[in-house]
Amino acid sequence: MIEFQDLSKIYHSGDNPVKALDGINLKINKGEIYGVIGFSGAGKSSLIRCVNFLERPTSGKVIVDGHDLTSLSTKEIRDVKKNIGMIFQHFNLLNSKTVFANVAMPLTLAKVPKDKIRQRVSELLEFVGLADKADFYPDQLSGGQKQRIGIARALATQPSILLCDEATSALDPQTTNSILQLLKKINQDYNITILMITHEMSVIRQICDRVAVMEAGKIIEEGTVFDVFSSPETETAKNFVSTVMHDELPDSIKKALEEHDGLQKVYKINFKGNSTGQPLLSELAKKFDIHFNVLFGNITELQGVPFGNLVVEFQGKQNEIQRALAYIKEKEISVKEVISHAS
Ligand code: ADP
Repeated sequence: MIEFQDLSKIYHSGDNPVKALDGINLKINKGEIYGVIGFSGAGKSSLIRCVNFLERPTSGKVIVDGHDLTSLSTKEIRDVKKNIGMIFQHFNLLNSKTVFANVAMPLTLAKVPKDKIRQRVSELLEFVGLADKADFYPDQLSGGQKQRIGIARALATQPSILLCDEATSALDPQTTNSILQLLKKINQDYNITILMITHEMSVIRQICDRVAVMEAGKIIEEGTVFDVFSSPETETAKNFVSTVMHDELPDSIKKALEEHDGLQKVYKINFKGNSTGQPLLSELAKKFDIHFNVLFGNITELQGVPFGNLVVEFQGKQNEIQRALAYIKEKEISVKEVISHAS
């Protein structure tokens, strides 16, 4: 549906060239919500703007619906772009025009007959929940309402792809939620593929199916939201994940662990999916001659799948602990030693 092949973008505006995209390879499937996350300057905007040719790639390919944009004529690109809507962090509405005229704009430009425009704009305003605001001006609306108008305008020509450039970054958390729910509904009701860039991991967690982490123009990690959130590999991904997963140990426990403060053998047990429902510790206590001291626990949900970890001190004889660990691993539950201070 959208594919980047060895895509690079170099800007030559200042004294030194800036390599904003550096050999990007990525495939986004039809109907999925794909998130790209990275710090400011990572290259996210450059990437998303290559999809609708707001930026021309320096090299590599951008393939949209089977068409390699880099090989098309200007007119052919215009045709492909009709199939792509975009929403922006600061909404990009025309303040001098009414809500109706803003939403109608892409249809007016496409010379759609007036009665059809009226009908389509009414449907769109109804869909975004602002049917009563047609005659208002953007300045009379809240940020969330402005973004809803931006969304209605982006959907006017019935695109199959929606690009979201930091679409919720200017909104408060509650409004962000309602806009994300609306995007999810658009994706589900109309099977529209959504590519969104953001610096907020909570946005990715809430609605994306897959995620790519960008740094210095490259994709450094990629996968399903579940995989990246439950087992981030790079430092950058770990940092992003920790902003939403709150799996950091409380300071007092960290201190106790660092000082081995009376603690013997401490393990971190990672539960995923079905394993979260298993009464693992009580099973272990029955099967083996050991006791448990739970130091920290955290269970959450990712894409509808439970996920979490427990930090537990195992108290007992060495061989019993080893047998218990082997039993946990047999169940394909990950377990990692945090401290070992064998008695
Ligand atoms: P992000 O969206 O992740 O913040 P950008 O794609 O905006 O990243 O920017 C990537 C790099 O490219 C940055 O170093 C930025 O300063 C540079 N850049 C972006 N747009 C331009 C431009 N039009 N001219 C020159 N440099 C640019």
